[in-house]
Amino acid sequence: MRLSQMLFVTLRDDPADAEIPSHKLLLRAGYIRRIGSGIYAYLPLMWRVLQKVSQIVREEMNATGAQECLLPQLQPADLWKESGRWDTYTKAEGIMFSLIDRREQQLGLGPTHEEVITAIARDMIRSYRQLPLHLYQIQTKFRDEIRPRFGLMRGREFIMKDGYSFHADEASLKETYQDMYKAYSNILRRSGLAFRAVEADSGAIGGSGSTEFMILAEAGEDEVLYTDDGKYAANVEKAVSLPIDAETSRFTTYEKRDTPGTETIEKVCQLLNSSPTQLVKNVLYQTVYDNGITVLVLVSIRGDQEVNEVKLQNELTKLASEYGAKTIISLNVPNVEAQQAWTAKSLPLGYIAPDITDEYITANKQIHPKFLRLVDQTAVDLKNFVTGANETGYHVVGANWGEQFTLPSTVVDIRKARPGDRAIHNPEQSLQSARGIEAGHIFQLGTKYSQAMGATYTNEQGEEKPLFMGCFGVGVSRLAQAAVEQSYDKDGIIWPVAIAPYHAIVTIPNIKDAQQIEIAQKLYTELNQAGIETLLDDRDERAGVKFKDADLIGIPYRIVTGRAIANGKVEVVERATRKSQEIVIDEVTTTLKQWITEAIGHRAWGMGHGEETR
Ligand code: ATP
Ligand code: MG
Repeated sequence: MRLSQMLFVTLRDDPADAEIPSHKLLLRAGYIRRIGSGIYAYLPLMWRVLQKVSQIVREEMNATGAQECLLPQLQPADLWKESGRWDTYTKAEGIMFSLIDRREQQLGLGPTHEEVITAIARDMIRSYRQLPLHLYQIQTKFRDEIRPRFGLMRGREFIMKDGYSFHADEASLKETYQDMYKAYSNILRRSGLAFRAVEADSGAIGGSGSTEFMILAEAGEDEVLYTDDGKYAANVEKAVSLPIDAETSRFTTYEKRDTPGTETIEKVCQLLNSSPTQLVKNVLYQTVYDNGITVLVLVSIRGDQEVNEVKLQNELTKLASEYGAKTIISLNVPNVEAQQAWTAKSLPLGYIAPDITDEYITANKQIHPKFLRLVDQTAVDLKNFVTGANETGYHVVGANWGEQFTLPSTVVDIRKARPGDRAIHNPEQSLQSARGIEAGHIFQLGTKYSQAMGATYTNEQGEEKPLFMGCFGVGVSRLAQAAVEQSYDKDGIIWPVAIAPYHAIVTIPNIKDAQQIEIAQKLYTELNQAGIETLLDDRDERAGVKFKDADLIGIPYRIVTGRAIANGKVEVVERATRKSQEIVIDEVTTTLKQWITEAIGHRAWGMGHGEETR
């Protein structure tokens, strides 16, 4: 492609609305354009990057025996009602765009495709002979994200590869899961990225067992905890660890103490000269179940620990049936305004005890009349602890479960693991922290969807059984931007060779020089013919401007038809290292071909060269 014929517009300054380097650079270099909140146009350079990423994904998926298809984005609400996800995905903080058609039918725009694929499997899979089966697609997804941001990282419309597998049993599912683990590792490695596979929470998708593939970068929204021995890595949402030991309480008798102005753990510990590990902290949450019932939750946890809200949410979901519900639709710490909606009298905030009376809750059909009392493991073994006295300005000391307070019957593990904590597999290892961008997520779904939607098959014994399912997602557009987040410098993007929009750019420093033009055009043609995707900067611009633009858009190799042509050579500059060398014109193509093959391996590497590797 000739730059003179391209829609090629670069910006000198950082766009005001972009916060992180990759977002700024993709906008400045003319790869993307913002159309609305979380909505971007992929301009020609970006589209090539996305196609390259897609092609790597496709090759690795095909190599496992998965088959590509394309499922509808417009999905009937009925399917989502069958799985029980319509309300969670469309109400409150739900992320599904929904609409009503001219026949007054409800529809949603696909944020994910479990329902559609399960409906297909229900109709088409009859026998164990058809299993296992794995279908995938690469397609635009729609999600009405609460906080769309960072450009393609969290869009409301974005490209995902999603795959769904069907199995006769769990062993077969686990086999495909392992294949996907390898395929995803290959995808990220081939895309030139540094990443870490981590244990993950399964969230609203459900099921058991999941791994996230994190691209390591400071701007990552996720925190990963890992050990140096390489034996443990988990998303902080899921991570477990050993808490430090609690100190022995310095109180031996139960007493109520006057502790004015000590709403925080820090203040009360200072006043009583005690450690936060001797204290039971009581945190109030408010959750709304999908049947509209609000439940007030009181979590008792050791004073030095924090509640992991993802773990809490999972526990509350497990308890849904006790409230006549299937799942929760929101969870938060109620602010003053929210408290007003249900408190009968004002709460002794900062001084709440595990036994605070249910009389604080106003009688109301939509509000469960009793606190749901949960205790975290860290608080269970405490002796002679400090906690609130249910009266503003007072605490009690020397308290014990089974004496002054009843231990809540529901004991849970909902503490947040933290960097520095000891690892469970080996207490000599301590947890380290890193930031990551979630590029992929693989799940063992089990029979959750097949059971809800009646997708069964007949086994060898002639019995009808629910299908086992796996689901596997890669954020294609997120991965592409994450590559930039991991690889740039002050002058612009440094694309990994495998996913760069073009491999090379031929720059003509002086457009008035006929010989420069002739050699450039000859090289441009020859390189493209050899499968090296090459741009030609034939614009009527100063050389400095052209060099700056080439650096900004991040093309791996720049070929300059400058002074060296007098000696039958051109200058070739490697973008990543800035290493420059003069190469005999006739040897440029073979040299570049060799470099590119070295950088991305011996697989087919051109845009049009994608083939199945099986
Ligand atoms: P996140 O926790 O970041 O919201 P998720 O858990 O909702 O991600 P999945 O439903 O597992 O993501 O989707 C599979 C992949 O799709 C993710 O690993 C991610 O790479 C990508 N993805 C998810 N949401 C977005 C988005 N809003 N914009 C771009 N890519 C996304
Ligand atoms: Mg999400």
